[in-house]
Amino acid sequence: MTSASSALQARLFIDGQWRDGGDAGDFPVLDPATGETIARFPAATASDCEAAVRAAERAFPAWSQTSPRERSELLYRAFHTLRAERETLAEIIVRENGKAWADALAEADYATEFLRWFAEEAVRIPGDFRLSPAGDKRIVVSRHAIGVALLITPWNFPAAMATRKLGPALAAGCTTVLKPARETPLTAAYIVGVLDRVGAPAGVVNLVTPVPTGPLVAGMIADPAVRKLSFTGSTEVGRELLHACADSIVDTSMELGGNAPVIVLPGADLDDAVSAALQAKMRNGGSACTAANRFYVHASLHDAFVRRMADELSAVRTGAGLERENQLGALVSEVERDKVAALVSTAVDEGARVVVGGAALPPGAFYAPTLLDGVTHGSTITRREIFGPVTAVVAYDDVDDAVRMANDTEFGLVAYVLGPEHDALRVALRLDTGMVAVNRGVLSDPAAPFGGTKESGIGREGGSEGILDYLEEKYIAMNP
Ligand code: NAD
Repeated sequence: MTSASSALQARLFIDGQWRDGGDAGDFPVLDPATGETIARFPAATASDCEAAVRAAERAFPAWSQTSPRERSELLYRAFHTLRAERETLAEIIVRENGKAWADALAEADYATEFLRWFAEEAVRIPGDFRLSPAGDKRIVVSRHAIGVALLITPWNFPAAMATRKLGPALAAGCTTVLKPARETPLTAAYIVGVLDRVGAPAGVVNLVTPVPTGPLVAGMIADPAVRKLSFTGSTEVGRELLHACADSIVDTSMELGGNAPVIVLPGADLDDAVSAALQAKMRNGGSACTAANRFYVHASLHDAFVRRMADELSAVRTGAGLERENQLGALVSEVERDKVAALVSTAVDEGARVVVGGAALPPGAFYAPTLLDGVTHGSTITRREIFGPVTAVVAYDDVDDAVRMANDTEFGLVAYVLGPEHDALRVALRLDTGMVAVNRGVLSDPAAPFGGTKESGIGREGGSEGILDYLEEKYIAMNP
């Protein structure tokens, strides 16, 4: 296994070559647990971005014409390599993102599985051959790679969000330009390096980190060669990018913000509910678009639930992710930690009570596992994505009210329902989200369609749906 330090690749990757970038200088990549600079990454210029798009454009005709089996084999080789190097990948994730070791290792495995899943999907691209209802023609539908795909990823799952896009794009026959978050470019560079090592042809995968981001990304979107934008990140930035895509009618997939409700139903088993609630809240330190944001707990269980959650959260070991026994790592930056702290203090001003935690834990971007009780539905903390280890509990009496409060948001990514299975299913069917976890704290799976309704996004990643986002249908009419 390569050690993480020697595996750090802090360069752009364009047309099959690692490059130091133009004259825009570089930016530091920080370890959020210590504030130290781990690496300096080149700031890509407009001409670097242009070179990446041109390389992807040149590579597209040949790559899109490779056999599905050839694309599948490339992804399998990447899968096997990354699986063998999972600890190296996890270490890079911890160092630039700050998350706990167990979360990083889980992400490394999750990320790797997208490569296997899409290696399997590459050879199953569906088509159709039908007789028209009038019997006057054959309707032939074939699917083709859409073109050059621009892939923009966030910092919270720097590996999995990259492979969730690269896997289907490459399987479909698209060529790609990956733009990772400024906080976490090293993980993306490592994954791109693996694809290069296992034989991705020059230009099929490119990596840029443009500075300033907005204008240079807009420039790539305006390039006629770019036919697809797949974006994962905040709703605010997603909205801006949708506007940019409108001008050149670029196809978009949008995985945006969440505000996940958890409904604890009357009759829920307390042990099971607490265990699922902890997973839903604390996976990835709460920095997940799927993280439980608002807990609606039936009055009959409220006091016991709060006591049990308080005990569990007080026992969480917080500290540097590289110390493997720590269960909660740092937030990605002090800026993100301060956002969480501000939300908690606003919640207190609006009447919530801190039961556990409620404080930053310097040095480093740590925030204590926190439990807030007496939260009012409609208060700021129930409206905003917390993105940190803060559990906000609202008590309710009537299940219809809980459903109404759960749906009372512009977001619609995921919801959790904990309680007797049949009741939970009935509630799940009433929730306006793209995904619902019933009596589970985690639902992400490369084999399932991941995505949201309302302002949480457009399209689905993963599942058999995922590859379709990178394919375009062609209808050919023939005589019968
Ligand atoms: P962000 O929107 O700030 O950044 C996401 C990406 O967009 C980064 O690469 C960033 O550099 C880039 N970006 C920022 N401004 C841009 C601009 N003007 N033009 C083009 N690109 C720009 O989000 P973040 O803080 O990195 O990630 C957290 C957000 O991502 C949360 O809202 C979370 O819910 C969301 N998220 C969603 C999913 C999902 O699948 N729905 C998964 C993970 C994260």
